[in-house]
Amino acid sequence: MEISPTFAAINPATESPLPGQFPEHGSQQVDLAANAASEVAKSFRHTTPSKRSQLLHAIADCLEEEREAIVARAELESALPNARLNGELSRTTAQLRLFADVAIGGLWQDAIFDTANPNRQPLPKPDIRRQNIALGPVAVFGASNFPLAFSTAGGDSASALAAGCPVVVKGHPAHPGTSEIVAKCIAKALDSHALPQAIFTLLQGTSHELGQALVTHPKIKAVGFTGSIHGGRALFDLAQQRPEPIPFFGELGASNPVFVLPHKMEANPALLAEEYLMSMNMGCGQFCTKPAVVFVTQSKASDEFLRLVREGISSQPGQTMLTAGIKRTYLEQSEIRAQQSGLTRTQSTSQQGVPAMVFETTSKEWRNNPQWQEEIFGPQSIIVLCEDSDDMQSLGAGLAGSLTATIHAEEADHPIAQNLLIDLEDVAGRIVFNGWPTGVEVSYAMVHGGPYPASTMPASTSVGAEAIKRWLRPVAYQSVPDALLPSSLQQANPHKVRRSIDGQ
Ligand code: NAP
Repeated sequence: MEISPTFAAINPATESPLPGQFPEHGSQQVDLAANAASEVAKSFRHTTPSKRSQLLHAIADCLEEEREAIVARAELESALPNARLNGELSRTTAQLRLFADVAIGGLWQDAIFDTANPNRQPLPKPDIRRQNIALGPVAVFGASNFPLAFSTAGGDSASALAAGCPVVVKGHPAHPGTSEIVAKCIAKALDSHALPQAIFTLLQGTSHELGQALVTHPKIKAVGFTGSIHGGRALFDLAQQRPEPIPFFGELGASNPVFVLPHKMEANPALLAEEYLMSMNMGCGQFCTKPAVVFVTQSKASDEFLRLVREGISSQPGQTMLTAGIKRTYLEQSEIRAQQSGLTRTQSTSQQGVPAMVFETTSKEWRNNPQWQEEIFGPQSIIVLCEDSDDMQSLGAGLAGSLTATIHAEEADHPIAQNLLIDLEDVAGRIVFNGWPTGVEVSYAMVHGGPYPASTMPASTSVGAEAIKRWLRPVAYQSVPDALLPSSLQQANPHKVRRSIDGQ
């Protein structure tokens, strides 16, 4: 019998292999998983929302039961602290339960009716009823930086299952052991609800071929991805070049600009410096919402802010990054940036882990160096000193697409904040006022997306209830007999779905 090749997880703190071997899956396993998912796609689409809601609760319950084992393994594989991983597991189960509620809430179905009018002239108006239906099997790429909340049972998988789409996950090779325990929970939940195992498959491996085979498989109907611009763009292009192009929902990178307006800076530079350092260093700067650029105006207060930031960054403790590859890229890109003229660097003096660093520049240099808009993944950020608030405001409109944009303002700053806000609507999916962008609420109104490269699909969000809409498409049923219609479109409306009738 042929033995499949395997791989081991690497502990990023020690850079040595961890116990356990994981299969190197390839195109053959992709074929098996995608075909099996396609075979159950229709029946899964037609399960009741309440059945899918029960499934999501059962997954969350099992993750809670396995909390200790999941967090312990994730800690070894990611070097993220125990408290952060415990919090992330709670966020993951809360997310599963939110989508359980979203499934039965019915708004995702977007049921819309046009009433027939047989007497309309010159032609009768037909009865048309539309609703959203599940797209079919979805491929999900686990993210390295959230081994729980954006990985195997993370937001992409939870929203796809809520919509009625089978899911094939490409686990991130940085945390295969964590993914395996989580996948077992999903298998157990499917079993306990007498649902076929083919509704969810975890594929593992370290080769690009695995992800490429998944994105190009004809039975896969959409993709969810969180990762690098380089990798995400390559996979997005593959998805568009298929004989049947498919939606590719990629969240690729963001600089999350922050604007501190003069009166706000004047009010409390020390607090701003403290909060900024906390936000940019959180999780070793490996948050997609890290503030990678901060705009301030020249003043005594901003001098004090800069002094405190330099002081704070110098004494930052070093942290361990998620993988040796991410660490290498961080150090290489930071060195390249440090060699460029127009920037000054202050960095942590800690000898442990990777050094946190802050660069300072002027608005003039910033304008001449558009490459500085590219985020360096890790505890690094640039502060841009602007001449005045007009100078600062003029920089807002030229920024690349981002997940967030933040304004810090006192009431006296509102006239400028108002104009900036309008410019930043073109830049970001979420605009934060007097806060920091790193925390992302999982809720009904959240938008975690934005113009490219924040997202390859700027009309969508990958966090929050609306994320379910990525896995749906509308179907209109014209003059179909009531008894043959999906239940949400039948006159009796047995599940009490909210419906819009003739525009009301
Ligand atoms: P990544 O290199 O983009 O990898 C993400 C996933 O995509 C992995 O499963 C990877 O698997 C696969 N992949 C990447 N390039 C591929 C290609 N050309 N063809 C097929 N599959 C491909 O991201 P990462 O490993 O998580 O971290 C690397 C960098 O990504 C970071 O330094 C950071 O810049 C960025 N990142 C951004 C975010 C964000 O929130 N936007 C989150 C995490 C990371 P294989 O490599 O095994 O094929």
